[in-house]
Amino acid sequence: MQLLELLTQTPSVPGREDRIREVIKSYVTEKQLFDELTTDAMGSLIGVRRARPKDGAAATETPARVMLAAHMDQIGFLARHISDDGFVRVIPVGGFDTRNLFARRVRVCTADGDLPGVMNPGGKPIHIASESEKKKVPEISEFFIDLSLPGEIVKERVQVGDMVVLDGPFSEVGNSVVSQCLDNRVGCWAQIRAIEALDHHNCDVYAAWTVQEEVGLRGAFPAAYDIEPDFAIACDTTLCCKTPGVPDEERVTVAGDGLCLHIMDSSMIGDIGLIEEIEAVAKAGGIRTQRGVLARGGQDGAAIQRTRRGVRTVAFACPIKYIHTITEMAHKDDLAAYPAVLTAWLKSL
Ligand SMILES: [Zn+2]
Repeated sequence: MQLLELLTQTPSVPGREDRIREVIKSYVTEKQLFDELTTDAMGSLIGVRRARPKDGAAATETPARVMLAAHMDQIGFLARHISDDGFVRVIPVGGFDTRNLFARRVRVCTADGDLPGVMNPGGKPIHIASESEKKKVPEISEFFIDLSLPGEIVKERVQVGDMVVLDGPFSEVGNSVVSQCLDNRVGCWAQIRAIEALDHHNCDVYAAWTVQEEVGLRGAFPAAYDIEPDFAIACDTTLCCKTPGVPDEERVTVAGDGLCLHIMDSSMIGDIGLIEEIEAVAKAGGIRTQRGVLARGGQDGAAIQRTRRGVRTVAFACPIKYIHTITEMAHKDDLAAYPAVLTAWLKSL
């Protein structure tokens, strides 16, 4: 869990993935997980691990090219305006529900260090608000950040374009872990753990940690074009709404029932043949999986599937309760199943 905690506590929003890339890069370099490691022009990190057949046997002449892709950006904000009295306005990069943004601690990441702050919408406290004011759900543009510093100091330290993230701890709660940005540091983590557990494999593995997924799968397109895979797995997260207030037929997944294989979401339909093969491999290894259908929402697999002549693609998704909040919750059994399925499938190729 230490690695997952480190990944969730490293802020990186779309277009500002430098910090998380460095963390992943130094970890996989130290563990010598790849034969080659490069960063493409958009900032996606790509590790190549050539086929390593058993007992020193020679690799087949044309090993299958398998792409794994986990987006390493998280939903967050970029600073867009600093007022003379030092309040910072932001623009979201990724989809927020403003109802989850009231009274939040935030971190403003500047060139010379991070500043703690709090975020609230403009308006009155409950004591002096009218009934209609209390019911209003504000737009994101109405939120501002208070750093409790004089305006001239804020203007000196914070630049338009600086990254802003919600700030919350990583903790263990019952059978789960709770943190901000489990979407998608869980996918980033699962890829690392899966490769760590790989000894022998007959395919060439291209593990990509992509940029800018949360604003439209932007990093996955060029990464997939360059890799030219035969198969791809997008490693991400999905909704888990088996919670009060949601009809059971809209639950998508059940926490603790294992890794979810997306049958479809609004961005792609998974390769059903490949889903069935992966399910058989998981079953043979005693690892639990579940199927999920997501009516709305997409992931990097959609970009990869449609690259060049098309790619056989499946989306892996860890069930996450309270997704896109700072209390995202993932069941430990589902976390354990995630890299286990990935490793078992890669070894089966
Ligand atoms: Zn995601």
